[in-house]
Amino acid sequence: MKNPGSELKQPSASWKVAPYWRTARLREYPTLTEDKSCDVAIIGGGIIGLSAALEIGKSQKVMLLEGGKIAEGSSGFSAGVISLATTADLRIIEEHFGRDNAELLYARLSGALDRTLSKLSLDENALQEGASIYAASKQSHLSILSTERETRSRYGLTTKFHDKANLPTWLKGFHGALRLEGERGVNPVKLLEAIAFLANDQGAEIFENSEVANFEYKDGFFVLNAGEHIVKARHLLVATGVHGKKWPQLASINRLLVPVKGDIIVTEPSPEVARLVKEEGTIAMWDTYQMLYVYTRYLPDGRILSGGADSPGLGRAMIKTADDDGVKRLHAVVAARHNFPIPPVAHAWQASFSLPADGLPLLKQIKYGTDGDNRLIVASTDGLPSGILLGEVIADMVADRDNELLPILCQNRKPSMEARLLSWLPNLPSIRNLALKLVFFGMKLKDILS
Ligand SMILES: Cc1cc2nc3c(=O)[nH]c(=O)nc-3n(C[C@H](O)[C@H](O)[C@H](O)COP(=O)(O)OP(=O)(O)OC[C@H]3O[C@@H](n4cnc5c(N)ncnc54)[C@H](O)[C@@H]3O)c2cc1C
Repeated sequence: MKNPGSELKQPSASWKVAPYWRTARLREYPTLTEDKSCDVAIIGGGIIGLSAALEIGKSQKVMLLEGGKIAEGSSGFSAGVISLATTADLRIIEEHFGRDNAELLYARLSGALDRTLSKLSLDENALQEGASIYAASKQSHLSILSTERETRSRYGLTTKFHDKANLPTWLKGFHGALRLEGERGVNPVKLLEAIAFLANDQGAEIFENSEVANFEYKDGFFVLNAGEHIVKARHLLVATGVHGKKWPQLASINRLLVPVKGDIIVTEPSPEVARLVKEEGTIAMWDTYQMLYVYTRYLPDGRILSGGADSPGLGRAMIKTADDDGVKRLHAVVAARHNFPIPPVAHAWQASFSLPADGLPLLKQIKYGTDGDNRLIVASTDGLPSGILLGEVIADMVADRDNELLPILCQNRKPSMEARLLSWLPNLPSIRNLALKLVFFGMKLKDILS
């Protein structure tokens, strides 16, 4: 990889990424100004689209079309927690797919993360490594911790239990906690910029401000219409995230996705947080609630970032101010959980993403052409780590290589109860929204009564 620093560009004011993550850009990418053809076209420059471009570009001619600019989707507004512990709920994967598959998924996820991050040369402000604290919000939640600890120990993962009397002194109001080593956090905008830069250096063509209005399959090719130009491709990946167009080819996968929105706050720096990060290597904390949970990151510059307690529905990413009710609520929760003063909010925003109903990344593949030579792949992720993993799996799919993870990741996998219920609901937004609100309400009630 060339030295990324040598190409740093001041971002234009119109770059819509989360305010705290804003950074100098590594590269600006052109708009599509002529007709093109390639082996694989990708729609969407979020974590899935870019990770796939990075992997596919090594062996095939790939073009990525982003409607806005890189990182303007959910990925660039996320909290940047790159946690294996929260991404792969080993217990649930074991229940659905068996122990061998849980081990396989975990190993592949962690391998994909290690491989990708090691290629990107992110500095220590962009990539944090350390431990997370998983804290029991109620006495009755201690059993959640012991199950988690037992599962992790079977997978050889380092976990330390603190009972109430031995909790870290800076934590307040919890009944016990696990310390999970081997966790990471990133500046998600720098992560995406670095993946795009490397993918582009390796041959992937990236176009910004090139929204795809529609696509069709014709005579052995997918034909994408973007502005006044077309891109013809043998294979097509649609990775348009939560705000993608409602193309009919996506209907069956969209039925399995839950749109979620959440707030994030970032405080002014605090000396206690800087100490936590530097001396204890603690980079994040979250609790055992299912729907009321709040996660907290301790950032290298001593700030606290916090989010969670998400609600169902879609909202365009927007900046919030310190006097917003949701922002005040999050700040109050953070203050109630720490034994040191929490500084005022410096940045706040709201954003949405879509969550596959069973909490696992989701792929749909439709084969076109007489011999099924052309593939349309639609991908949705439950977070950044799985987005990176999907890049590797999709590269295998378009190269016609076997990938043992496909039975777990593809849409026809054994459906969970949640996925089954969601797919049965009629495709009317009003009914689906009401049903999701009821489910979220039920889960919150369960949190309160547990
Ligand atoms: C508030 C919040 C906090 C989060 N925190 C975390 C976290 O800490 N850790 C974690 O792992 N995950 C987190 N997530 C989830 C994570 O951000 C998402 O799962 C992930 O970013 C989804 O990536 P994606 O590539 O599918 O979509 P996106 O990042 O949304 O990318 C899709 C891209 O497609 C483009 N696009 C859409 N339509 C078109 C079109 N027609 N033509 C061209 N381009 C198009 C969009 O502009 C967009 O850039 C969080 C999400 C939110 C909202």
